[in-house]
Amino acid sequence: MPDQLIRATAADDSIRAVGVITTRLTEEARQRHQLSYVTTAALGRTMAAGLLLVSNMKQPQSRINIRVKGNGPLGGILVDAGLDGTVRGYVDQPSVELPPNLKGKLDVGGAVGQQGYLYVVRDLGYGYPYSSTVELVSGEIAEDITHYLAVSEQTPSALVLGVFVGEQGVTAAGGVLIQVLPKAAQDEALVETLEARISALSGFTPLLQQGKTLPDILDQLLGDMGLTILPQTQLVRFHCRCSFERVLGALKILGEAELQDMIEKDNGAEATCHFCGEVYQATGDQLAQLILDLQSEVSL
Ligand code: ZN
Repeated sequence: MPDQLIRATAADDSIRAVGVITTRLTEEARQRHQLSYVTTAALGRTMAAGLLLVSNMKQPQSRINIRVKGNGPLGGILVDAGLDGTVRGYVDQPSVELPPNLKGKLDVGGAVGQQGYLYVVRDLGYGYPYSSTVELVSGEIAEDITHYLAVSEQTPSALVLGVFVGEQGVTAAGGVLIQVLPKAAQDEALVETLEARISALSGFTPLLQQGKTLPDILDQLLGDMGLTILPQTQLVRFHCRCSFERVLGALKILGEAELQDMIEKDNGAEATCHFCGEVYQATGDQLAQLILDLQSEVSL
């Protein structure tokens, strides 16, 4: 099944639900960054969360950045997801591996760390992004995001995220976000029912592995509450906006002396994109051209 996102409503529009399958894009991230098992799960969960969170923004250019900075050995996670269905991201220490946790699962909380912060930046595309920060709850990502939504956005939410990674790579990944909209947010029984249903799921990836589709999973969660699945299925993918032109732009900022130094020492420069691992090579001639550009700008 291709990576995709579907939206739904329930309970007379008091509930908004989004489901996403991210198996392929998580596998692409794993290969691009040579992620370990536990860092695949950590980044995969955060990428799925990014796509779920950005899905309810309105402006077409909307993007969301999620930064997780805990005290665990993984360092930090950064994910950038767009309403257009693109997502990219990386972890600081991709090769960190930990033994399974007490539940026998990948120890994402141990790798991220239980202490630290979750930063979320929402950008509507107008150049005035707004951000908020909450403390981490467990480092397991889904709990931390749910806490953020409750505290920063006053939206009671139930969220499940999952990544299954084995010797074959990532074979199932994605998640479901169910939110109680403001008009029903005081309905504590409703909020508790949703939380109970999400926790009663045996996880997200087992459902995918049983052959369930996103509509099946939403139906299992909300089928008796007037579920309406919106007709558009959106395809989602790993995509980075880096390009050789952007790399040249970044090199130019280093300035004439630094560029001259690179030409003399290496006759070129190599730059790796943090977000996607793409390696760019600039030749000595291209660096020399940047110097000429800089000089002509100065003389203007
Ligand atoms: Zn890139």
